[in-house]
Amino acid sequence: MNHSSEKPAWVIQQVLDASHFKCCGNEDLHPFQCVHCAHPMVLCCECDTVYHELPDTSATTVPNWRGWNCPQCDAILTVNDFTSAESHISFGDGSRHGLDDLLSTRPMTELFEMVTRSSETLLQYLTQNRQTFAKQYAHNIARIADAIAHCCPGANVARRSAYAAAQSRSRKTVLAECVAIADPIQRAYAILGVSETLTFKRNSG
Ligand SMILES: [Zn+2]
Ligand SMILES: [Zn+2]
Repeated sequence: MNHSSEKPAWVIQQVLDASHFKCCGNEDLHPFQCVHCAHPMVLCCECDTVYHELPDTSATTVPNWRGWNCPQCDAILTVNDFTSAESHISFGDGSRHGLDDLLSTRPMTELFEMVTRSSETLLQYLTQNRQTFAKQYAHNIARIADAIAHCCPGANVARRSAYAAAQSRSRKTVLAECVAIADPIQRAYAILGVSETLTFKRNSG
């Protein structure tokens, strides 16, 4: 498979140059844009620091999540606004906002390897029926997996069919079938699909 000219569909943590972001020392970076005005920002999910004046990473704030307004347009942002499709920063928009210097290019094969490696851990959680771990872990994998699935056309099909199968049959049986999938990327996406039958009930109030 040749992914050399391909990129994730939007800017994800794994293409940020982490050396620019210094908050808690345990940075778990989530790039997003304001869903109202497209102002790009990076949230550290570990310590809640928001880098809000990019590409200047010296300006940071720790929002009050009960009511936080976009520093650019003043619209109220809610938790769902950080993960919706509208919150994704395209590479084009990133360039227009001067973010190129904050990015480091990484081969797509490396990103797919991260997904396949993580899916092995996810598989263990699922096999041991550690549902809370599995749900949280799957959520983190999905942040990469969603952004690169378009580079491997069979991936989303494998994810969707495993999801559908695990909804109508026992998760254990479907997992056994997923493990038997020869292609490592399709296997990874299928395992992710099974884990997504453990969805959180989101209370969007
Ligand atoms: Zn941090
Ligand atoms: Zn805004």
